[in-house]
This record gives sequence, structure tokens and C-alpha cells, in this order.
Amino acid sequence: MAAALPWRRRETKKIANYRGLSFTTEVVQQLVVPTFVLDAEGKVIVWNKACETLTGMASGEVLGTRNHWRAFYGIERPCLADLMVEDRLEEIDHYYPIYHQSLEVAQGVHTENWCVMPLRGNQLYLEIDAGPIRDEEGNIVAVVETLRDMTLRQSAESRLRTMFECSPDPVWIIEDGRFVECNDSAIHTLGYASKDQFLNTHPSQLSPPVQPDGEDSYSKAERMMALARDKGLHRFEWIHTRADGSTFTAEVTLSVIDLAGRQAIYCAWRDISDRKRAEDALRLYAKVFENSGEAILITDRSNRIIAVNQALERDSGYCPEELLGKDPRVLSAHKTPRETYQLMWAALRESGYWQGELWDLRKDGMIYPKWAAISAIHDAKGELTNYIASFTDISERKAAEARIDHLAHHDALTGLFNRYSLENRLAQSLLAARRENQQLAVIFIDLDRFKVINDTLGHHVGDLLLIEVANRLSECVRESDIVARLGGDEFVVTLTSLANDMDAALVAKKIVATLGDTYEIDGKQLHTTPSVGISLFPANGEDVDTLMKNADTAMYHAKEKGRNNFQFFSPAMTAAATERLELERDLRSALANSEFELHYQPQVCATQNLVRGVEALIRWRHPERGLIPPLKFIPIAEETGVIEAIGTWVLNEACRQMAAWRQAGFDLQHVAVNLSAHQLRSPDLVSQVQAAIAHFGLSPGELELEITESVAMEDPERAIGQLRALRDSGVELAIDDFGTGYSSLAYLKMLPIHTLKLDRAFVRDIESDENDAAISAATLALARNLGLRVVAEGVETEAQRDFLSSHACNLLQGYLFGKPEPADVLSAHWQGSLSMPRRATN
Ligand code: C2E
Ligand code: MG
Ligand code: MG
Repeated sequence: MAAALPWRRRETKKIANYRGLSFTTEVVQQLVVPTFVLDAEGKVIVWNKACETLTGMASGEVLGTRNHWRAFYGIERPCLADLMVEDRLEEIDHYYPIYHQSLEVAQGVHTENWCVMPLRGNQLYLEIDAGPIRDEEGNIVAVVETLRDMTLRQSAESRLRTMFECSPDPVWIIEDGRFVECNDSAIHTLGYASKDQFLNTHPSQLSPPVQPDGEDSYSKAERMMALARDKGLHRFEWIHTRADGSTFTAEVTLSVIDLAGRQAIYCAWRDISDRKRAEDALRLYAKVFENSGEAILITDRSNRIIAVNQALERDSGYCPEELLGKDPRVLSAHKTPRETYQLMWAALRESGYWQGELWDLRKDGMIYPKWAAISAIHDAKGELTNYIASFTDISERKAAEARIDHLAHHDALTGLFNRYSLENRLAQSLLAARRENQQLAVIFIDLDRFKVINDTLGHHVGDLLLIEVANRLSECVRESDIVARLGGDEFVVTLTSLANDMDAALVAKKIVATLGDTYEIDGKQLHTTPSVGISLFPANGEDVDTLMKNADTAMYHAKEKGRNNFQFFSPAMTAAATERLELERDLRSALANSEFELHYQPQVCATQNLVRGVEALIRWRHPERGLIPPLKFIPIAEETGVIEAIGTWVLNEACRQMAAWRQAGFDLQHVAVNLSAHQLRSPDLVSQVQAAIAHFGLSPGELELEITESVAMEDPERAIGQLRALRDSGVELAIDDFGTGYSSLAYLKMLPIHTLKLDRAFVRDIESDENDAAISAATLALARNLGLRVVAEGVETEAQRDFLSSHACNLLQGYLFGKPEPADVLSAHWQGSLSMPRRATN
């Protein structure tokens, strides 16, 4: 290199020979730039003021010597000017890491260097320029060296350089479309050993031929750089190739910078392969989430919905906007048991996972079951962040299960229970009946001559007939009763919580009637009749087998009795039931046939032995059965509603008789008439009573109405209302059979009544039972305090009469004074009797 330098010294001449030197030294002396000059022998001939200031060395110390190095270095070494004077230019690069021939015109050299500056005690970064002064022949006569303190700039630059070098992101400088500089990270990222391997290359040379968008790398790189130059800053994604041929995605930022007056591009990369991979994965997960056949729902830590997928929209009928931010509870049908939710949260807390069945409500109002799997999601620190729930609609599975279950428990043809279910359910019902002390009936039904229909008209018709029979059977019983088909033409009905045997007879009768009706099947009119057998729990058996067997036996009795009828397992019961059903039938026509009559029983004043009133008691004179007492037919009349008409008849008949007695001059104070529960409920009662009183001209108090304690207690509010209205009509009111129910005197106080009728059961035991005596005495005392009249029922003995009259009972009624008898019998008896006072007739 030195050989090529143009300022090579040709010949050394004496300084004195050069005339221009003194002028030069004079100029240098005046320069504000630190400068010194060496003569051809390397001795300092000028050391200007600025140089003194910079170095701390006085010119007097150095002029004429070769010691100027002491101003710069701690050990002896040549300065730039020395190398030039001594023609050792080839050593410059040994002493100065940075140098170049920047002063070509002046044939000078530029270097930069850190100098120790021993006299100042601090390092300086000096820019050093040295230039020769030549004589006419071109010989160097002196060398001028100028110094510039660049310490400050250098430290700023070195900091920037450090930043550039140490940046974890790969950084490049591009000039004229070529990489001219890069940091270590760039080298490593690309997988090269040194930057020399690719400096001066175009960016497209470190890239695949084509970028993902299809544009070829060269023209795209040019376009990107142009954009950066345009805008000053440009960011984009770029695929790079590593030394080994592999590629990676970088996010590239190009910014335009000024490098010593030249425009360059500062290019920073960030390898975003990981981010891209994560983004790709996320995109994939999002697709999976969206396209999953399972409904998925994600909530935040406080269980607010933050995402739902399409399947959930489809299953629930809600769009995401309607769900986001809400509690998943909005989907619930409120049918899932509370415990399920409790178990669910417990499991999520403990194991972070739960699965099970939930009931949801679609937007359209449909309830559907779903299988749910819920996971709690935690972050790296173990904090709960989300819940993810996936659901499958299991309506169909449930429906299939239900179908299978139904098939297992039901008769396929009729849909009734099969034998298996019947036996199970009957066993359950028996447990309940035993526990609750109730009766239960098993009714066997066999269709008469079904085989004939089946054989002559075919199975198809037979099947349709059986289906119709099943339908009619189901209509004969309550929801809670069991209807089953055992097979063939055999059916069983089980009646639970039976009030009495008659209920079973009534249902059996209904079954016989209903199944005996004409059938319209396949356009044909068919007839069949059933034979029905009944066994009762507990009377005819306590277990399933016995009850079934006995009902079957009873059914055979029905067949023997000519079919188309029902039979109880015990013949006595069949007789009772038959009688009852006949009574029911006859009762409907009894009123029209004038088969009822009223008998009257006297009520006697305890102290004076005088008849004061009578109680009207109904009798049914049955054309075949003779006189039937009320307890035998009143309940039937109640059940069938016939009581309404009977009650009206009794009321009018009693009023008529009362008026007749008064007319005849008997001083009777009142007639008592019994009211049934049915009558008390009737909204017409008050007007009926008023009409009767008015019609027969009875005075207030001449009619007394008796309501049993239990009837009054049935619906107290209503009873009080009705009774008030009756009392306001001038009617006396009595509580019948007092002491058999649960009513307290405190309660009775609220009823607008005048009379208490002490039940026969108390009176009967007054003599023997001290308890009853005490209760009767207390009741009498209390009634008196309440201002009530007391009538004792069923007084049969003198002792009873004595007890009652000594306890101030007002009236006594019982066989001791007379049985209930027809009005004319009583009238005859009273005629001239002292016990029946006569009115003063006028
Ligand atoms: P009740 O109102 O308590 O009538 C008293 C019953 O006791 C009557 O029975 C009467 O004959 C009977 N009796 C009276 N004194 C004695 C006695 O010393 N010893 C015994 N062992 N019995 C006595 P009956 O007439 O058979 O009436 C029974 C029940 O039928 C009545 O009880 C009443 O609740 C109801 N009843 C009677 N007639 C009617 C009516 O016209 N309408 C309604 N709804 N029920 C009526
Ligand atoms: Mg009575
Ligand atoms: Mg009574």
C-alpha cells in the first residue's frame, strides 16, 4: 500500500532551503486548531497555542526536540507526522486502527486514535491529520499534524455502536440496496459464522425466491425499501432463508437514517416464527371451536360467558350477543336438581372437572336434556381463569332410553302396564296401603267369548278390540290406579287408597257397563262383555300373589254366574255390594214414588218432663225391603246427589207438620231438621229455608236446623257465612253429635248457633265412665257460660236423665221419652197427655 502513496519522499533537503517554511510556521502558530509541525529530521519546529492547551505541554518544552510523543502516549512511539517524515507510511495501520487517505489532494493522511495524554491525565479520542510540506522539487521539508478532540462524539458513537452490536434483535444497515453492516444477532439468526459471508448482498439473496404472497423476493424487497424511503418508516413480514436453507418469518422494520450525510436504511428484524405458529395454532383452535359438533361455551373466572360456538347457538337457539356477559344459568330450565349443581361446583373446585346431565331451556321454550363436561382452566400461577363447558344434546338418547324402558314395562299392543310392572307396582301400593291403613282392590277382568271374535274376524280386529278395551278401562279409573294387561284378553285394574269396599263395586260396575257397550271396529259393530273378579286388601289377602289369585277366583265366579257381571272374592261382600247398588238404583225413584216419611222424636224439658220440641228423622219405606233407616241410604243419597231433592222434601214436610201441630193446639216450641253436608254447601239453602218458613207461616225459632260437628268443620268460613244468613232468617241452629269431632268450644263460639246436641256416645257412658261424666259436666257448664242450650241425645235410663238434669241440661231426647214415630202416632199419644202442654186456643 505504501508503495502506491503519491507523497513518497524523493529526497531530503535542508529546511532552510525552503523559503515558504517560515511563512507556514507563522500561519500555524496562529491557527486555533491544535497543530504542530516537524521538520525533515523529525524535530518539533512549531507547537501552537491550541496544541499547548490540548496537550498540556508548553512549546518551550518540546520545540527543537523529538519528545512530542510524551504529550500523547505513556511509552515512546511514533506519531503520524513521524511516520510521514521517516517515510514509514506502511506502518500506519499498525499504530492506527482507523485511517484513510482522505486528503488525497493535499496528499495527507487521516487517522483516529485514543491517546493517553499523560500530562492531562485523561484519554482523548483524537482525529489526526497529517500533511507534508514540500519544496519545489517535491521533497518533504516538514510535516504538519493537526489534532481534533473527538472524545465526546466518539463516546456517543461508541454507545450507539454498543447498542447496535448488543441488540437482541437482528439489525442491519442497508445502503444502495445492499447490506453493509449488521450486528451479531443478525449473524446468528441467519446461521452464519461471520458477516463477511453475506455483507454486500441484496436482501433477496437471503430469502426464498418468492414471498408467501406470490411476489418475487427481489422486486418485493425493492418495493419495501422504496416505501420506507417514501414514508421514513415501513413495517412488513418477510420470509428469510438461513445459511442451512431453512426459512423463518421475520417482522421487518425499515427506517431511513442519515449516515454521515448519506441516506441509509436501518433494518430491524424480529423472528416471529413462534408467534406465527401460535397464531396458526390459535386459528386452528378457533376453527375447531367454531366447527365442533359439540356445543361449547367459555366463561371467565366469575362465570360470565365470553364465547359460544355455532353448535351452542344451534342447540340453544340463542345468538352470541344474547349470551355474552351473562351467567350460563340463563340457559337453564330450572329443572336440574339443586344437588346436581352443588356436586358440580364441588367437583370443579376439587378436581377442576365435572360431567353430568343438565336440563336446559331452548329460546323457543323447549326443555331438553344435555350431557355436560366442564373444566376449570388455570393459568401458569394456578389462578382460575376460565371455565370451558361442552354439551351434547341427549334428548334423542333419553327418548330412546325412555322407549326401551316403556317397552320393558308396558304391553306393546295396548300401552298398558305389563304383568311385571303390575306386580311391582302392586307390591309398592300394598306397602303404602299397609302404612296408611287403607284398603286396596285388585280387579281381574276377562272378556267373555273374546276367542270367538278373534277366530272369526281375525287377529287384526281382535287387536283393535283389545286396544279399545284398554282405552275404556283407563277411563274408568283414576290416574293413580293401575291398569295392566296380563296377556290375551286378561286385564287387571288395581284401585289404591280405597275409601270403602263399595268404591271397588262401583268401579267394577262401571267397568262391566263400559266394556259392555257396543264397539265400532273396522266398520263393524262388535259386542263383548267382561267377567270381573275383585279381591280386597287386607280382607282377601295381604300379598300380591294371594290377591291376584283370589281376584282370579272371583272372576271365575262371575263366569259361573253367567258372565257380564262382577263378583267379590267373598260372597257376603258381593251381596252387600249388590244391595247397595240396588238401593242406589231405587233411591232415584223413591221420592217420585212417595216412599219417604218423616218420624219425629220428642225433646223433653229435663226439669218439668214436658215435650218442648221434636226432631224430624227420615225413613224410607222400600216396597220390597220395608223400612230402611237413614244411615243406610243418606250416604248413598249424598254420593249420588239425590240428597238435594230429599233434603228439600224433608224441610217442607217438617215445616208443614209443625204448622199442623200448632194448628191442632199443641204447644210445641220447635221442630228440628237435619241438614246434610251437601245441603250446607248449596247456595240455594237460605232461600229454600226462607221460602218454607214463609210458606207454612212459622214464627222465628219454630224451625231448628241441625248440622253435625264434622260438617260444620269441613269448611268453617263457608259454614259461618251460611249459618249467619240462616240465623238472620229467624232460624235456630244446632250442632249435632257434639263431642264426636274435634271442634273446641272456643271454635263453636264463633258459630252463630243456639243449641248443642251432646252425642249419644257420651250420654251412654255417663253412668259407667267417669271420664265421660266429667266431660259431659264440663261441656254443660261451658255451654251454659256461652249461653247455649244443650240437648242430650240417646237418653235411655233414669240415671242418665238424673245426671243430665242435675247438671242443668236443658232438653233430653232418647228412647226413655219415646222413639221416633210418625206424626199421627205422636199426635194421638199427646192428645190429653200431661207431658204435652196445649196452647190456649182462641
Ligand atoms: P241424629 O240426627 O243424631 O239423630 C239421632 C239418631 O239417634 C236417630 O237415628 C234416632 O233414632 C237415634 N236415637 C234417638 N234416641 C235414641 C236412643 O235412646 N237410643 C238409640 N240407640 N238411638 C236413639 P236415626 O233416625 O236412625 O237417624 C240417624 C241419623 O241419620 C241422624 O242422626 C241424622 O244424622 C241422619 N238423618 C235422619 N234424618 C235425616 C234427614 O232428614 N236428613 C238428613 N240429612 N239426615 C238425617
Ligand atoms: Mg239430628
Ligand atoms: Mg245426633
